[in-house]
Amino acid sequence: MLEKPPLSLYIHVPWCVRKCPYCDFNSHESNKPLPEKEYIAALYSDFLYEFSKLPDQEIELQSIFIGGGTPSLLTGDSYRFLLDSIKSHLHFSNDIEITLEANPSSSDIRHFSAYREAGVNRLSLGIQSFDDKKLKKLGRIHDKEQSVDAIKIAKQAGFRNLNLDLMHGLPEQNTEEALKDLQLAIDTKPNHISWYQLTIEPNTFFYSHTPVLPSEKKLIAIQENGSALLEANGYTQYEISAFATDDKNSLHNCNYWSFGDYIGIGAGAHGKLTSVNEQKIIRTRKVRQPDEYIKRAKNRDAEIKEVSTEERALEFLMNALRFKAGFSKELFEKRTGIPFIDISHKVLTQIEKGLMYRKITEKGEFYATTQKGYRFLNSVLEEFL
Ligand code: SF4
Repeated sequence: MLEKPPLSLYIHVPWCVRKCPYCDFNSHESNKPLPEKEYIAALYSDFLYEFSKLPDQEIELQSIFIGGGTPSLLTGDSYRFLLDSIKSHLHFSNDIEITLEANPSSSDIRHFSAYREAGVNRLSLGIQSFDDKKLKKLGRIHDKEQSVDAIKIAKQAGFRNLNLDLMHGLPEQNTEEALKDLQLAIDTKPNHISWYQLTIEPNTFFYSHTPVLPSEKKLIAIQENGSALLEANGYTQYEISAFATDDKNSLHNCNYWSFGDYIGIGAGAHGKLTSVNEQKIIRTRKVRQPDEYIKRAKNRDAEIKEVSTEERALEFLMNALRFKAGFSKELFEKRTGIPFIDISHKVLTQIEKGLMYRKITEKGEFYATTQKGYRFLNSVLEEFL
């Protein structure tokens, strides 16, 4: 039986000053003044539409993530209005996590204090690298000095909960360069680092003009040495790319990876909602073009789709196996509505191959990938197709 999962809210801001050559997100380059007021009004109207469809309107919201694009192009006043308006309908949990993604360029950091005052309590800075040459290759518009400034200003604004996004496996990067980048990030003492590998995605500039990337051997060396460096400095890996000190795991992302529910508002935003009464999981996707999103009244859906029973197990595992600690048998059953016995033979095959393992704790029966399985997660998932 499906049980009610925790609820989060994702808000998408679809503009960037410049499109990065590796980016496949729904981000649109814009040099004109942004239609900020109109977009915020559209987001609120979209929220009301989603709220009206919520299976349980008394549920508490446990996290909000304002992502993009570049959310730091909009002002604190706009977010204050939006968050206050949402709060007048939906209960916020006492320890709600509200994250905003920001770029470290000077025009963005002047908003940080206002974001904190608007209720944002976690900032995620898109540093990507502290090496100016690499930043240039990545098409980023900031430099190392601006990153260092942004981290300082974020802390001064009162963001004790701070994430740095950092990439590795950059064009022509060697292990020393990748580790130096990581050490510089660690030295600034954020309580969360998302350290992820550059991947070449279809429909990006790098896909048609692929730069020289480190060899597979180098990538493994970077991964292993970087993870060890993070662990040695008190950062615990809890997901493929996520490392945190003091258990400051991202509540919002953990809800995604636990196959929790989230309302998605904003151009191109995705949502997932469970109806316990109807024993259904519904996925939603909004129209991608910002102008069309603003223009549409009330219903901004591009797609609404029920997740079939067959798809649920794979979708759950695609998320939950990202956790280093894996998932419990109970969580699988509550989130998918499928008895664990239905996938147990496939799990057993993975255990026999040395790609997964089982452990019994006082909290229940857990299944996770081994080190090898973690590295070859796609092969593990193929078993469940
Ligand atoms: S800043 Fe982020 S969202 Fe915008 S284009 Fe670059 S990678 Fe994409």
